[in-house]
Amino acid sequence: MAETNACPTCKSNKIWEMTQKRYIFTMSVPPLIVIILIAVLVEPVFIAFMPAIILTNIILAKRKAPILFCKECRHQSTSTIF
Ligand SMILES: [Zn+2]
Repeated sequence: MAETNACPTCKSNKIWEMTQKRYIFTMSVPPLIVIILIAVLVEPVFIAFMPAIILTNIILAKRKAPILFCKECRHQSTSTIF
């Protein structure tokens, strides 16, 4: 586990890390809710898009996450090192 560093912009150590798992969860849940609603209300075939959305977010998470946010100045970085 890498220790989170202080923010280079404001020197704050109030860093929040979005891990890959958190990224996948955060990015997948809203579209999945929409798909489930459409599937239930309109057309069940939309369920077939669910694996594609999860897979897309796993690929994106591997490229983008972990993302580090500074709570003080909202500086963000896609690297584990600021
Ligand atoms: Zn900062």
